[in-house]
Amino acid sequence: MSQDKILLVDDDPGTIQLLARMLEGMGELRFATNGADALRLARESSPDLLLLDAEMPGISGFEVCETLKGDTDLAHIPVIFVTSNSETSFEVAGFELGAVDFIAKPVSAPLVRARVRTQLRIKRLTDELRRYSTIDALTGLANRRSFNDALAREWARAHRSGTALSLLMVDVDHFKLFNDRYGHPAGDECLVAVANALHGASLRPADQVSRYGGEEFALLLPQTPRAGAERLAQRLLDAVNDLHIAHQASPTAPHVSISIGICSYDEASPAWLRAPADSRFADETMETFGHKDLLAAADQALYTAKHSGRAHAVLLEMSAKPLRQQV
Ligand code: GH3
Ligand code: MG
Ligand code: MG
Ligand code: MG
Repeated sequence: MSQDKILLVDDDPGTIQLLARMLEGMGELRFATNGADALRLARESSPDLLLLDAEMPGISGFEVCETLKGDTDLAHIPVIFVTSNSETSFEVAGFELGAVDFIAKPVSAPLVRARVRTQLRIKRLTDELRRYSTIDALTGLANRRSFNDALAREWARAHRSGTALSLLMVDVDHFKLFNDRYGHPAGDECLVAVANALHGASLRPADQVSRYGGEEFALLLPQTPRAGAERLAQRLLDAVNDLHIAHQASPTAPHVSISIGICSYDEASPAWLRAPADSRFADETMETFGHKDLLAAADQALYTAKHSGRAHAVLLEMSAKPLRQQV
């Protein structure tokens, strides 16, 4: 198991030395003697626990804590305040800022060790929970929840930076018949193989492959206009065909195949720059588009692919109104 990382912050080097001795063997220690260094180290080394002096000149411990809790990348780092101020109102204010515990100065070794041990144990459990809540247990891909987050995030980014974004919805053909014919465990194995093939065929590090649900997968492709999305779709079709997983019950092919729905937000898209995030070009009559419209169009494209022979890809444009009316 990897070592826990503990960041000790105190403007008094003597206190840091004392705490470091007390925590010997409990984790990998790093030190900062002011708020600015504490924030920099927190960002660079993503510690599992922060022991933070409440009273420091310049940026106080409270201010460091407030900054951490306001930053989505750092908010999950637990903070224990170390302080000589034992007033109730002071402690309450610290808890309200998001601290998990207080340690009183002068510090006592058994107490420091016990409190640190407790918080590290909780941190390990919450890390594990967070991991399980974003990963699909069968395939190891991102799950639908993380896909939803990524879609909203990438859509906003595409608008902010004026870059393309493509979405591929992938569905295994006649998978119910596969389960019926070969059994559910074989179905699970097939899904794992398809997941690996999709992941392996997506070459860019920014491409995000998720299990959307059941036998359906979603690929989110930042900075990818339609030509690139169509090329990747063809690679995915080929990759799954090349698995040569027999599917004798399929009316489409003698082996397992997939169908793909594509929607691209790019310069050729009618939705280009017409989103609430960029109202510069909006007038009262103009339709606006959101990430849900991208998802709806890719889904509609998948539906079209299913009803036009399967085992191929179909691209559709985003069209806010008709699709919304269909829901
Ligand atoms: P189509 O080509 O139209 O997509 O047909 P289909 O049979 O694939 O579609 P349908 O939605 O009717 O059936 C999906 C099947 O996928 C039904 C369900 O039992 C199966 N399935 C969903 N999740 C899992 C899973 O985790 N493991 C296994 N083995 N099967 C699953
Ligand atoms: Mg101090
Ligand atoms: Mg299917
Ligand atoms: Mg399906």
